[in-house]
Amino acid sequence: MAFNLIFLGPPGAGKGTLALRVKDMLHIPHISTGNIFREAITAKTPLGLKVKSIIDAGKLVDDDTTVALVKEYFAQSGMQAGYILDGFPRTIAQADALALFSTVTHAVNFDIEDTVVLERLGGRRVCRSCGFNWHASFNPPKQANVCDKCGGEVYTRDDDKPEAVQKRLLVYREQTAPLTAYYRAKGLLVDIDANGNVETILTHFKKALNL
Ligand SMILES: [Zn+2]
Repeated sequence: MAFNLIFLGPPGAGKGTLALRVKDMLHIPHISTGNIFREAITAKTPLGLKVKSIIDAGKLVDDDTTVALVKEYFAQSGMQAGYILDGFPRTIAQADALALFSTVTHAVNFDIEDTVVLERLGGRRVCRSCGFNWHASFNPPKQANVCDKCGGEVYTRDDDKPEAVQKRLLVYREQTAPLTAYYRAKGLLVDIDANGNVETILTHFKKALNL
């Protein structure tokens, strides 16, 4: 049986990190809408050109266009071996549309405390020169605000400031709560505890999927 997985979880829940491990373990591709958009733009497909004009105008890509791009990607790539979809679907409308061209086997819900997300994202520090990600508690540079790798200035992105993280969490909870209920009702939701490190999360994941 192919694993057709979607990952649901707030920013900072470790979806990307876990996806890398699951991808290697199950030999399935990890697909984000970001990747799909970039590939279509590079290939200059009609939808790629459309999404480029939307992004260039600084607008958000609407539901219909996003669904059309994901559908096109699935049609081209086949996806028989399974997949991890990250960042899609975000709405019930997108979930309904996905169900028309692919059968999700598990909706993996990353269950995480807001305080853990705040610590993870709120502690993130980025080097202005080389872009390396430091962490105030877990992996701080030796000298405060100076990058060990390149000597550049290490700072906190506006997005990672506590008020901004709170807001991102709130937006996520509002948008996605209906989606977890949607997949729960279909018997596809798998809750995993995402409060620990990636090894712990992977253990929970394997147990939940009987791997
Ligand atoms: Zn640096």
